[in-house]
Amino acid sequence: MIARVTLDFALGKDFDYAVPPELTGRVVLGARVKVPFGSRQVLGSVTGLLEAVPAAEGRRLKPILQVLGQRSLLTPGLLALARWLAAYYVCPLEVVLKTVLPEAVRREQAGWRERLFVRPLPADGPLPKLTRRQLELWHLIEERQGLPLQELLRLTGATADTVRRLEDKGLVEIAPRISERDPLAGEQFLPTEPLPLNEGQARALAQIVAALDDTGPPPGGGTEPGEPAAGRVFLLHGVTGSGKTEVYLQALEACLARGRGAIVLVPEIALTPQTIERFKARFSHGPRRTLVAVLHSHLSAGERHDEWHKIRDGRARIVIGARSAVFAPVEPLGLVIVDEEHEHTYKQEEAPRYQARDVAVWRGCREGAVVVLGSATPSLESYFNARRGKYTLLELPERVDHQKLPLVRVVDLRQEARQGQGVPVFSRRLREAIATRLERREQTILFLNRRGYATALQCPRCGYVAGCPRCSVALTYHRPEQQLRCHFCGHAEPAPAVCPAPGCGNPGIRYAGLGTQRVEEVLRRLFPHARIERMDSDRLTRKEEYRRILGEFRAGRIDILVGTQMIAKGLHFPNVTLVGIIYADLSLHLPDFRAAERTFQLLTQVSGRAGRGEVEGEVVVQTFTPFHPAIQCARRHDFASFYEEEVEFRRQLHYPPWSRIALVTLRGRNEDKVRFTAEHLRRELAARTRELADLILCGPAPAPVTRVETFYRYQLMARTRHMSRLSPHLAELLAHFQSPEGVTLSVDVDPAQLL
Ligand code: ADP
Ligand code: ZN
Repeated sequence: MIARVTLDFALGKDFDYAVPPELTGRVVLGARVKVPFGSRQVLGSVTGLLEAVPAAEGRRLKPILQVLGQRSLLTPGLLALARWLAAYYVCPLEVVLKTVLPEAVRREQAGWRERLFVRPLPADGPLPKLTRRQLELWHLIEERQGLPLQELLRLTGATADTVRRLEDKGLVEIAPRISERDPLAGEQFLPTEPLPLNEGQARALAQIVAALDDTGPPPGGGTEPGEPAAGRVFLLHGVTGSGKTEVYLQALEACLARGRGAIVLVPEIALTPQTIERFKARFSHGPRRTLVAVLHSHLSAGERHDEWHKIRDGRARIVIGARSAVFAPVEPLGLVIVDEEHEHTYKQEEAPRYQARDVAVWRGCREGAVVVLGSATPSLESYFNARRGKYTLLELPERVDHQKLPLVRVVDLRQEARQGQGVPVFSRRLREAIATRLERREQTILFLNRRGYATALQCPRCGYVAGCPRCSVALTYHRPEQQLRCHFCGHAEPAPAVCPAPGCGNPGIRYAGLGTQRVEEVLRRLFPHARIERMDSDRLTRKEEYRRILGEFRAGRIDILVGTQMIAKGLHFPNVTLVGIIYADLSLHLPDFRAAERTFQLLTQVSGRAGRGEVEGEVVVQTFTPFHPAIQCARRHDFASFYEEEVEFRRQLHYPPWSRIALVTLRGRNEDKVRFTAEHLRRELAARTRELADLILCGPAPAPVTRVETFYRYQLMARTRHMSRLSPHLAELLAHFQSPEGVTLSVDVDPAQLL
């Protein structure tokens, strides 16, 4: 037998090895193996098994040296998934495998942590003579039927020597034992029971359960994500607080009852202890009791290793995690839930550049699982699929508690500017609304998606604008540190007191544009007695700080919270009755075809923070474009109209969901060389893809932010309805195109952003 092995280091090609007789049976698909390579020994994964030597390879093959671990790590399902990912997202298989199998699991030494454990030995006859201290220890050890040495010492204050003496007397054994790390060790969960569902929830759940019971042959993944047969993929569209999570919980229970496991994906930012607790609490007791494994980026390598094996061994039947949890080795897989499916953090911005929501759909369909995508503001792509019958639409139009959605008022900043002097940070309406909340002792959230004090330092005399020396963007002024900073590369320099342009030196240098620091400053001037806190990534370099501020806010010790998108999501504070959006146009004017969609989602999410308690909420949106559909539809909480308007705009321009995009980016320090290479690449690609009738090729053009960290970037954009026909050409190009030195090439299929 011959094994085809994908080595861990990137070579873009697999190698064949002989399977020695003593390893037959252990060299299976997905097994981790050690093989000779040149004069070295390297690790890899078995990705193919062949009966005979291919003719071209008549020479003697080297044998596999060793199989690592007790069982194969990659399930056949995951191996198939990896192959599809590599082909569709145009990425070498070994790079994909590194994502599918986390580093902590791939290592040669199994990563179990061993700890010394003290265990009582069966004693016959009376106890030997012991000191009081020794007797005390012995009783505890016997009562607990053994415990970790460290814990014993901590509990009793004894020394290790005392315990050794017990061992000498033959009473106990001290030996290393594997101990699992549990990232939530020591936490207690109050068990929760399933709630009686309202009509909408019950209808949604019934359809999901029916799909779980429909165990006909799996429809099989299409070659493109989002192309399954209808009936197994659901889009659960429901406003915040409409009870989606309760539907997830009961669907999970139904899935476990049918003997299958499940994966729940949530955006990293929503993977808070509260979210995890909600899932653990439901499954910590009762007939469906199971471990809930957690996978996210803050786990240590050891914790990740342990969580992964809990899943692989089938001890944890539910996995909750961020993007990469879509690769969790759950078998058999019954259900995949993707919460907040519109979130662009599901897209990985480095190779493999996969979209976890789309991977979930593909994997779920291939493994016969049911997939539920949930959101208050579905992505255009998913809603489009639901409208066309590829997904089944489930709607929860009302909040569980029948609370009204907040009242949204739009303030026209142009008019404000005409009435006063210049554009104010706070319109009269917003000022008054805040004052009312302070009087009533209710809380306010103010949102501006830009940190810093001012977005540009400008000289009104000579026109100088302070720019980043490494990127083609203006520097942001940060007042507390008196610094100019680049938000792309982190470059920082002292803010000048006079215009630094040669021969100018104007002391009247000005700050233009608005950031959260300035909002905070103006706010303190307007409301000197209010308790105000700011929350953005400048302010919060440590996690505890984030928790502290949220805790204070929850406890009512903060009146007004100013922040960036960090405060836009998932937070639930019943006493917040006002949300102010300082400048809604910010995200609207980004050079990206999804700008309107992003704005609509953001406004809806932020508005969702208002009025989740007894009192009806109010939202004040300040904008220069009050009649833009994204703003007007968000004002009316009208997703359907926004969808109609936006999808028509996309159709006219052949943008997703009407097509799929592949973005080819060339990057290098010499701009001419980059542009020249991009032009050459375009000709190559056009020649290769002549038979793809619906292909639209645009560019090359400089990326919207052309220079980042001293690298110039040029882009080619290819749009087609059939990405699986274009992907192979891109893979060929990537493998064979000779780019000049210093110019690198990357491909992003289904990019989340064009910047
Ligand atoms: P979503 O996930 O859509 O934001 P949740 O599932 O978190 O909504 O529900 C919002 C709140 O309503 C939660 O506190 C939840 O416990 C409660 N809830 C959900 N479903 C019901 C129900 N059927 N009856 C009573 N309360 C419910
Ligand atoms: Zn920079």
